[in-house]
Amino acid sequence: MLSAGINIVGFSWITSPAATELESIVLDWLAKALFLPQDFLSNGKGGGVIQGTASEAVLVVLLAARDKILRTVGRSALPKLVTYASDHVHSSLLKACQIGGLDPELCRLLKTDSSTNFALSPDVLSEAISNDIASGLIPFFLCANVGTTSSTAVDPLPALAKVTKTNNIWLHVDAAYAGSACICPEYRHFIDGVEEADSFNMNAHKWFLTNFDCSLLWVKDRSALIQSLSTNPEFLKNKASEGNMVIDYKDWQIPLGRRFRSLKLWMVLRLYGLEGLRAHIRNHIALAASFEELVVQDARFKVVTPRTFSLVCFRLLPPPNSEDNGNKLNHDLLDLVNSTGSVFITHTVLSGEYILRLAVGAPLTEVRHVNAAWQILQEKATALLENL
Ligand code: PLP
Repeated sequence: MLSAGINIVGFSWITSPAATELESIVLDWLAKALFLPQDFLSNGKGGGVIQGTASEAVLVVLLAARDKILRTVGRSALPKLVTYASDHVHSSLLKACQIGGLDPELCRLLKTDSSTNFALSPDVLSEAISNDIASGLIPFFLCANVGTTSSTAVDPLPALAKVTKTNNIWLHVDAAYAGSACICPEYRHFIDGVEEADSFNMNAHKWFLTNFDCSLLWVKDRSALIQSLSTNPEFLKNKASEGNMVIDYKDWQIPLGRRFRSLKLWMVLRLYGLEGLRAHIRNHIALAASFEELVVQDARFKVVTPRTFSLVCFRLLPPPNSEDNGNKLNHDLLDLVNSTGSVFITHTVLSGEYILRLAVGAPLTEVRHVNAAWQILQEKATALLENL
């Protein structure tokens, strides 16, 4: 309410020094809480910026990486640039490629399967890169995931970073959802390897008790972003900017205008404190674990991938000799459960299997809600199986 009411339009430092400086401060605080490498802090060559969404975050770093490589190989090489990610990367990467003028055919969504819990294999990446180089193409960008949208898969950052380093590829880490968990020491290992990344993103508006929109992006080399996104019209010129003494966040993002979003994050950090935020994450993960335990105890169901954070991927098993491989059954179960209006679960498809998903993420969710959801699922499953 404060952020909206004050109505700051803080595109350059001079329009609101407080909005700019608070943004650098809270992002430095959080970078330290996440044990991000020193290079991501604002006192060096890098720094943090609040974008509206993870989609904007991946777009701006893709543009920065694109222009950085084109400065070396020449602008005419644009049609040869290749982007990599697992086939579970968020669709925002493909959209960023489309906007960035990159050939969508050269956005390689590399196949994953249950053998890696749907994480990208470094060997598969290496092979794809070698093939592309052999064909005269230019690998330039990898979007690695820590917590995919489908199943919260975690790509092996240290091994992937070795491959990107060898091949001079920009490594972006999309931890839009799961990054929040990494403020807990016991979950920090999921972003081990981020030291080698060029950029890192997490959405405070997903699981960090901050109202939409507030997507946090850190980069190691802010000049790469600025070279791609800076414009300097006469009407924005001022002493502070000209003297290179301040940050003008307009040059780190797509729009010119920007809200006082750091105030929301500052408020959350001050209100809950890191321990409060850790307790919030731990509580949700414990609730998801208790749901997972309920699923495991019912032999009619199966947990499909090991639960890592607060998302449980599961499915109802089809009876023996059923013609349906379970996809229709689970689709029907989802519809039945959601039509009660008491609970809303979502689905995904993993290796051709239609999967149900229960995510704990709302601040007011308690164990009684999780138990009630499970009861509805069991009742509807029984009804479905009886009528087969
Ligand atoms: N990346 C991941 C892993 C996501 O789960 C999502 C959204 O669900 C996004 C990116 C896109 O987020 P946004 O809506 O902030 O663009």
